[in-house]
Amino acid sequence: VGRDVQPLEVDGITVRFGGIVALDDVSFTVRPGTIHALIGPNGAGKSTCFNAITGIYRLASGTIRLGDTDLTRTAAHKIPALGIGRAFQNLALVGTSSVLDNAMLGRYALTKGGFVQYAVRAPWTMRQERRHQQRAAEICDFLGLSAHLHKPAAALSYGDQKRVDIARALNVEPTVLLLDEPAAGMNASETAEMAELIHQIRDELGISILLVEHDMGLVMGIADRVTVLDFGRRIADDVPAAVQRDPEVIRAYLGS
Ligand code: ADP
Ligand code: MG
Repeated sequence: VGRDVQPLEVDGITVRFGGIVALDDVSFTVRPGTIHALIGPNGAGKSTCFNAITGIYRLASGTIRLGDTDLTRTAAHKIPALGIGRAFQNLALVGTSSVLDNAMLGRYALTKGGFVQYAVRAPWTMRQERRHQQRAAEICDFLGLSAHLHKPAAALSYGDQKRVDIARALNVEPTVLLLDEPAAGMNASETAEMAELIHQIRDELGISILLVEHDMGLVMGIADRVTVLDFGRRIADDVPAAVQRDPEVIRAYLGS
């Protein structure tokens, strides 16, 4: 994918909503080329953390850096172009549009004129669009979607629709890919395929993964490192084997 590998450093971040402290001085580092899981009971602050990284929420304090770039000083719409891709928990696809067009949606985030330039379709834009189409088709091929390129996204199985959303996220050529519950609603064999795909994205594209996921089998099976949140606080940050036997982690999960 041709970007330098850079660590994503979340450094002492606090996010408040009125009186609620959704994240309280949370730190962790997604090291280059790793699969890093972010787990915790409902309401622990996982989605808030994703929204902080992608610039949607403002921080009360702390910093988030990708390599030397301070993301907390970057407008949300410029963050994808810096190398942060995000797939959503609730699919953000246009069901009536083709798989290829959906995969290309990620590109709008990178175009200077944004969607308007695409809609106007100047000649140079058409050339650019063909290049982008080719690139999106390659990514779809990588994700095993090549037989479906011209079908409406809504015609695909749930598992394949998740892949289209990941294709869209990969289109920004990220150094770090944020995945919010990629296995939610999947059966055991679909979950195993998703695990395989996450490995492939890391191993073959060299992209680091930050993964929020409730399926503990999936998390403990594929993560190199696990950060655990509870009530907005970081209660553990270690390799899976150590996290699984951490008394505070066990207490947080049993208590919820
Ligand atoms: P998780 O994704 O781990 O389930 P969230 O990050 O969604 O947890 O939520 C963390 C806490 O912040 C919860 O108490 C939640 O109610 C609160 N919260 C999240 N987003 C908002 C918001 N936009 N406005 C107010 N409170 C919010
Ligand atoms: Mg959430």
